[in-house]
Amino acid sequence: MRAFTCPDCRHLVTFESTHCLHSDTVLGFDWPTREIVRLWPGNACANRDLIACNGVAGPGGLCPACALTRLRPDDDDPAGLAQYRVAEAAKRRLVFELLELGLPVRSFRDHEEGLGFDMRSSTPGPVVTGHAFGIVTIDVTEADPAYREWMRKDLGEPYRTVLGHLRHEVAHHYATVLAPEGSAGAARVVAAFGDVTADYDAAMERYYRDGPPAGWQDGYVTAYATMHPWEDWAETFAHYLHIRDVLQTTIAYGVSVSGPAVLAADAAPLYAYPAAAPDDLRSMLDTWLPLTYALNAINRSIGADDLYPFVLAPAVIDKLALVDDLVRRVAAERPGG
Ligand SMILES: [Zn+2]
Ligand SMILES: [Zn+2]
Ligand SMILES: [Zn+2]
Repeated sequence: MRAFTCPDCRHLVTFESTHCLHSDTVLGFDWPTREIVRLWPGNACANRDLIACNGVAGPGGLCPACALTRLRPDDDDPAGLAQYRVAEAAKRRLVFELLELGLPVRSFRDHEEGLGFDMRSSTPGPVVTGHAFGIVTIDVTEADPAYREWMRKDLGEPYRTVLGHLRHEVAHHYATVLAPEGSAGAARVVAAFGDVTADYDAAMERYYRDGPPAGWQDGYVTAYATMHPWEDWAETFAHYLHIRDVLQTTIAYGVSVSGPAVLAADAAPLYAYPAAAPDDLRSMLDTWLPLTYALNAINRSIGADDLYPFVLAPAVIDKLALVDDLVRRVAAERPGG
């Protein structure tokens, strides 16, 4: 994420800001330019009061990020609406990063199998988080910290967030964008991740019965990635989005690590704009890894769990490099990309 400034007084504001705390200017996020602007009366996203969306309205009254949502909790489900507000904030951040990376974001409203989101509350009945034909379904109950922590412990996961779910599910959608069936990219995905057409139900049954294989850390970014090549792709792509967002944020805020473990800072600068980032994942990791050691150390200093509870084995780095290459190819094909 970038840092932003108030258009009136130039004080620091954030991606989420609705007002400048310094000049009281009413702020909006303008999606076409991806900048914080002065919000003129009547120009707010129709969801501003409901969920504190700061988007500038697009055609139809919603901002382009909110317009990607197909379903939301009912008006008579206050708990669901509160969770929807949290989940939509994570979704805005996701959409921002996809655009920053130069990826096409084609809405389900205009494109067959385009991207859309069903933000559903499990208050009325069970919701299964997942992806099908461009539509990502999110159980917004995961926005409740107590529920999410219970799920995290139950599943033995070191990391679980709504943003993480969104990044994982959108990865399934982008598999078809970055590596369409029959393309050279698809062949490279199969070579790196395995046969994506392998029996999914059997793989799921095996995973929930036996758990991940011993030594999975040598080949997979998470235990869940061992379940099926399709999930390995999604976990790796989601992890790639984590890395790119954090690296962008660190440069935006001027954070750099110059401790003993930093490798070649000059060769691996932290760029605020992903398009200008080093054109090779391994250079990025030279910056990334020392940064994660420092961030974990900082979290431990305040008594919190590790910010980055992951280990990147060489085989995982190879898969991340493939994702990086596929993202850059698609971004380069886009107009102005
Ligand atoms: Zn201001
Ligand atoms: Zn909005
Ligand atoms: Zn998945």
